[in-house]
Amino acid sequence: MNDLHGLRALVTGGASGIGLATATLLAERGAQVAVLDLDPSTAPKPLLGFTADVSDDASVRAAVAAAVEALGGLDILVNNAGIGAAGTVEDNPDEQWHRVLDVNVLGIVRTTRAALPHLRRSAHAAIVNTCSIAATAGLPQRALYSASKGAVLSLTLAMAADHVREGIRVNCVNPGTVDTPWVGRLLDAAPDPAAERAALQARQPHGRLVSADEIAAAVAYLAGPAAGSTTGTSLAVDGGMAGL
Ligand code: NAD
Repeated sequence: MNDLHGLRALVTGGASGIGLATATLLAERGAQVAVLDLDPSTAPKPLLGFTADVSDDASVRAAVAAAVEALGGLDILVNNAGIGAAGTVEDNPDEQWHRVLDVNVLGIVRTTRAALPHLRRSAHAAIVNTCSIAATAGLPQRALYSASKGAVLSLTLAMAADHVREGIRVNCVNPGTVDTPWVGRLLDAAPDPAAERAALQARQPHGRLVSADEIAAAVAYLAGPAAGSTTGTSLAVDGGMAGL
């Protein structure tokens, strides 16, 4: 039931980290896969690359249309593109709030809006949003990022309710701290990257960072026919963080 042959998938933010691992796994399972990214050039074959900024509606509509034409339709949409922000409510100016919400929340809205007419024609339509443990865990120094992912969680539930009767399932994954280029950049910016990595690992109850492949496996499950009766759920892949 994990076989994805015959299905066509689009992964936003698919040129790096969780998105790239997901696009690669979906392709390994037999799907035809397109990635939508600011710079899709790093996505290896057989992934098809399309340039778009999820904060720009016209570029999203153009890239989704081009991807659907190249794939011959669309069955799976993975809304994964996202950006981070550190700080308390005192630290982030309004412009930064607008920017992060524009990418992390409205980015999903724009891509989904462009994809829905095509998903409605699929017999196995699924949307998987990349949320975060930050949506539910009350992480310190992550007020803006957590608010954006809280919105992604609520949006996932609302979209699931709106589209279940037209045969479109909507779920999300809630990763803990994942070893991706994003986290690599955070570590590089720390005064002592090795100590910072050790601190991040210690914060994960299972004692290590989550791998991008572990997130990809969860997304592939939720996107595929094995999860055909699953909609409106969030799947934590966080080494136990959510439960503590
Ligand atoms: P990453 O930086 O390695 O990859 C993100 C990709 O998204 C990049 O290829 C980037 O070009 C693309 N992107 C960013 N802004 C975009 C935009 N406006 N339009 C189109 N593409 C854009 O990051 P990652 O760690 O793989 O994170 C991917 C997702 O996972 C994000 O939504 C993030 O919030 C979420 N997440 C990450 C972690 C983690 O610890 N890494 C934890 C929880 C959730």
